[in-house]
Amino acid sequence: MNTAYVALGANIGDPAATVLAAFAALADLPQSRVLRTSSLYRTVPLGLRNQPDFINAAAALETALGADALLDALLAIETRFGRHRRGRNGPRTLDLDLLLHNDSQIDQPRLTVPHPRLHLRAFVLCPLAEIAPDLTIPGRGSVAAWLPAVANQGVVRL
Ligand code: ATP
Ligand code: CA
Ligand code: CA
Repeated sequence: MNTAYVALGANIGDPAATVLAAFAALADLPQSRVLRTSSLYRTVPLGLRNQPDFINAAAALETALGADALLDALLAIETRFGRHRRGRNGPRTLDLDLLLHNDSQIDQPRLTVPHPRLHLRAFVLCPLAEIAPDLTIPGRGSVAAWLPAVANQGVVRL
């Protein structure tokens, strides 16, 4: 079995309800089990600022799915939730990013693991630190060590 971490984000419609429903969708993935889910976090959008706040969260999974199969499954859940791609950092019904898959380091056109920006984002690091305080990001060091650098980003635990 593999241990994987997934980041969840939503900012259209009822984003808190969407993230909770997405936890349930993760629990329904084949050959997988949700080990932990974080609190919900409210985040002021980075980049494109003229859009609603995001609700973000993280989940830990135990799964028989490899990283590629898990990415496919996450993208399929996004589509089921009505995701329309409007570009990076833009508004979305649901965004599911594969943060970590065991201690794999993958650099392919469609999949980079660890997620290349996870250590720079409070809205990812805060929920991740909540569910896995001792976690190490392969190639980058501990989650805890990256937290101070993002302390000035506006993330509120709900
Ligand atoms: P960011 O990656 O900066 O959070 P984003 O989530 O808005 O941006 P998307 O439009 O959701 O980006 O995804 C674009 C593509 O990124 C996906 O189609 C997928 O193939 C690719 N991708 C690469 N690595 C990952 C990963 N670790 N998790 C999810 N998608 C990934
Ligand atoms: Ca993302
Ligand atoms: Ca994404």
